[in-house]
Amino acid sequence: MVRSPNHLTPLSMTGALGVTDSASGSIIESYAMLPFKLIYSNGYYLPIGAHVFPAEKYRCVRDRLLANGTAEAKDFPEPEPATDQDILLVHTPEYVHKLKTGTLSPREQMELEVPFSPELARAFWLAAGGSILAARQALSDRVAVNIGGGFHHAFPDHGEGFCMIHDVAVAIRRLQRDGKIRTAMTIDCDVHQGNGTAAIFAGTRTASEPLPSVAGSMSTSPHAAKTAAKMRGAHAGDVFTISLHQHNNYPMWKPPSSIDVDLPDGIGDDDYLAWLDNALSSGLRQFEPDLLCYIAGADPYCEDQLGGLSLTINGLKKRDELVFRVARARDIPVMVTFAGGYALNVEDTVTIHCNTVIAAKEVFTAQE
Ligand SMILES: [Zn+2]
Repeated sequence: MVRSPNHLTPLSMTGALGVTDSASGSIIESYAMLPFKLIYSNGYYLPIGAHVFPAEKYRCVRDRLLANGTAEAKDFPEPEPATDQDILLVHTPEYVHKLKTGTLSPREQMELEVPFSPELARAFWLAAGGSILAARQALSDRVAVNIGGGFHHAFPDHGEGFCMIHDVAVAIRRLQRDGKIRTAMTIDCDVHQGNGTAAIFAGTRTASEPLPSVAGSMSTSPHAAKTAAKMRGAHAGDVFTISLHQHNNYPMWKPPSSIDVDLPDGIGDDDYLAWLDNALSSGLRQFEPDLLCYIAGADPYCEDQLGGLSLTINGLKKRDELVFRVARARDIPVMVTFAGGYALNVEDTVTIHCNTVIAAKEVFTAQE
């Protein structure tokens, strides 16, 4: 029987520490090695000028993880850009053509909220390639992190909210096409609802049971309460989508995910973690995915400029640990993307993203 995440034992830190060889006094490197990959490219930088989105955060995260000894240079394989064929697994030929030829309409340009350029399009193709590689690596290493991606507001036929290409959806569809996975689950913890994800996977057969109540004021999506049908015999191609987000925030129109947790303004660590635990447990009772895609947005942070929740840096790390502990306990490979993060102090956003990698290292190197 799989243990519930509530009953897992506290994390052991031993795996994160190096062991000193008493004869030579040197650190035995293999013991301290990162047992998974961090997918990264300097090409992830988004050329968007002065913008609330800190385009340099990916490089800052890589540099910090190297400087504090969490990772070594060889832990960061570089991805190839996704092919146009990969992108077309999710996006319409018309939209892809507009991106390739720089012919977005003024309205489409406005919805994207970042200034179009061919260089920007290249960065999004690369982020999608990074998520494909992260998903593949997760299948062999149990976990992998794309130090980028998580562009969950991109729809098949248009981009929104800084997101041009839905890298996570492209990765899922590519691995399904290759026969590497049949089913996937997305767990989206960005403060903004995963509207693109919900729209892209709306056609797949998903059903949901109501979440047990934690605090009376929160609701799940209306269609979620209609059926408690089990999904254990899920069909190939099915993708179960979970989004925990601030209700009173962008996007105004929230297409239904399999499970939506609409959080009230100002919610803190404890309530958030209880709802996350609930949503994950409920989702995994109904659906057994071959791959978990964790969208680890840094913007539920209390000092985020575009968010209205009140999580602390420590609470966000506990969030990451919870997702990784559930994935590990159930033996579900997990690929991670970073999504949003707009802290007043960019260093806080970098810390929150670095902590996601540190949490993965702690959970996946802890003794069984
Ligand atoms: Zn966000």
